[in-house]
Amino acid sequence: MAEAEEASLNIRSADLLFTPIPERIARLRDLAYNLWWTWHPEAQDLYRHIDADLWEEDYHNPVDFLRDVRQRKLEEAAANPEYLAEYDRVMAAFDRYMAAEDTWYRRTFGNANDVTIAYFSAEFGLHESLPIYSGGLGVLAGDHVKEASDLGLPFVAVGFIYPQGYFRQRLDQSGWQEAIYSKLNFADIAATQALTADGREVVVEVDLPGRTIYAKVYRIQVGRVSLFLMDTDIHPNSPQDRELSARLYGGDQEMRIAQEIVLGIGGVRALRQLGIHPTVWHMNEGHSAFLVLELVREKVAQGMPFDEAWREVRAQSVFTTHTPVPAGNDAFPLHLMEKYFNHFWPHLGLTREQFFDVALQQQSWGPTFAMTVLALKGSHAHNGVSKLHGHVARGMWHWLYPNVPQDEVPITSVTNGIHSSTWLAPAMRRLYDEALGPDWEEDLDNVALWAKVRDIPDERLWEVRQALKGDLVAIARERVRQRHLRLGSPPQVWPVLEPEIFTIGFARRFATYKRATLLFREPERLKALLNRRDRPVQIIFAGKAHPADDPGKLFIQQVYQMSQQPGFLGRILFLEEYDMALARALVQGVDVWLNTPRRPYEASGTSGQKAALNGVVNVSVLDGWWPEAYNGANGWAVGEAREYSSQDEQDWNDAQHLYRILEQEVIPTYYDRGSDGIPHRWLAISKESIATIAPVFSTRRMVKEYVTRLYLPVAEMQA
Ligand SMILES: *Cc1c(COP(=O)(O)O)cnc(C)c1O
Repeated sequence: MAEAEEASLNIRSADLLFTPIPERIARLRDLAYNLWWTWHPEAQDLYRHIDADLWEEDYHNPVDFLRDVRQRKLEEAAANPEYLAEYDRVMAAFDRYMAAEDTWYRRTFGNANDVTIAYFSAEFGLHESLPIYSGGLGVLAGDHVKEASDLGLPFVAVGFIYPQGYFRQRLDQSGWQEAIYSKLNFADIAATQALTADGREVVVEVDLPGRTIYAKVYRIQVGRVSLFLMDTDIHPNSPQDRELSARLYGGDQEMRIAQEIVLGIGGVRALRQLGIHPTVWHMNEGHSAFLVLELVREKVAQGMPFDEAWREVRAQSVFTTHTPVPAGNDAFPLHLMEKYFNHFWPHLGLTREQFFDVALQQQSWGPTFAMTVLALKGSHAHNGVSKLHGHVARGMWHWLYPNVPQDEVPITSVTNGIHSSTWLAPAMRRLYDEALGPDWEEDLDNVALWAKVRDIPDERLWEVRQALKGDLVAIARERVRQRHLRLGSPPQVWPVLEPEIFTIGFARRFATYKRATLLFREPERLKALLNRRDRPVQIIFAGKAHPADDPGKLFIQQVYQMSQQPGFLGRILFLEEYDMALARALVQGVDVWLNTPRRPYEASGTSGQKAALNGVVNVSVLDGWWPEAYNGANGWAVGEAREYSSQDEQDWNDAQHLYRILEQEVIPTYYDRGSDGIPHRWLAISKESIATIAPVFSTRRMVKEYVTRLYLPVAEMQA
């Protein structure tokens, strides 16, 4: 059965759940089942324009929306000529996209080569209504998949569906983070059952100690790319195994190893059942590295000796490492590996010792089986995610390549980027349509084209920037109102944010190395900075700490408590529940994006790229992607690009420098107005930032690099 037919059959079986849709606009349902709408605001408007309140209530989820919407509203839309014109335009664009033959991949490489790339990731950040991501890694994976679709890559993605997703965040009265898990109903999201060629549902089996575990496979369509997600919350798994896929990064090490076995080994088996035979296997971070073992097992089962099988699998595999933070590199104690793999290694033709040797890493607490080591040894091409991170990773993993100088350790780098359409505010898009021409997106990574941004009239850019800040202020006020209602506290008497005030945004996961509280080192100095009559400042914080990370939660509490102190109240605001929706509002609405990681722990970072695309100016430590982007005129660099012997010294130096540039440069520049009230010097920096960052730090450039530098060379090794 053709894939499209199969999908629509699946959708139709869910028909009973939906409000009957008038025939004239019936394709709203097809549209809902392809996440193409997540990066086409005009497609989202088709739902919003039917019932804007419901669209918000259903958290921008069209599947949910189509179930909840009143039939009368649908009928009104179907009788409204303006709506129908809009509907026809969007559907035509959608059809053109899905049918396009002249994609970048086809144009560049033809379709003669039968390359298929399989991309494995433990999380995918595609939209706020699909909570199967925790932070930057997931959002990057989601952006990668969207771009793979845009460029027309032969590409499938594999991951895990978490019925409880990642947690939703609430702060109690003291500012302590509480995690709320709620059950995700699969009927509410744009997932359908994955089916085999002959129409059977796909269920994979994986052996765990003393039992077999089953995972059912769902499919989510992301433009032209299929994303397959495994779910273990099915009969006949034991309650404990059904919990396995319940939460992203929940549970203990046993749950984690079991999840990673299902992801890596089960993921390969899922693709086999689907009749998909990748020629390139891309592990996005080490969580999926067990796939290497499964691919080797398949070959050994066909009679190939282990060494040869290993060489062949290695030659098809690509691995991206994402963090120099030790906790981000999974490593399992050997007794756990013994428990979970003693039935597996005989199938590889290995002894226990030989098996452990495949990924052995000595750590302070003893020998472990390390996923990063497995992935590095089991892949031909490997990369870090910025030039600086590549350098750091070569140092970190030098011990695996003792015979080469550190600079020649074979870990290259592909600097992260963002999927521009996902993160660009519609109002900014209209400016770019005018300045760059209507087809600028086709040519998104053309640096020369973006020079035209400098021609945008200051008053136009200023007007849009202020409007976006107004949108953010409205969202923040609503969130604060909701919080006060929830806590039963009196409505706030202070104004929550003012659109005329210079606004700094700081939002990211609250891992301690990101140093959210760096600005609090000298509270009096900060208070003075926030409250100058002639140039006041407000700071918005948001971000979740990992549920097991108490130091991270303490940082959140410190920010929250500071925000309640006299002198800070109304000037510092912590917003709960940082997710892709809040991220969009923040990176589009603030004036400055602040980034203060302890160098060199931020492998790349991408939120600052989202901000820059929208005309927000970066003030950032020279870590991750920023040293590649910063040119002295497109934002500010905090601290020095050097190493420190003590963290205290580093923190002190960076904080001093940050205060100084805020006080003497950033804030005065923002408040330096022309006779027309417009900050022309500020807008020059904003334009310089857009022009230099938008074309380079996008997934357009990034995925093209993955194709030409990693995927195709690996594919050609097998030819
Ligand atoms: C972009 C994004 C991130 C990554 O932010 P960094 O500052 O690069 O760590 C994390 N969470 C969400 C919700 C995002 O949208």
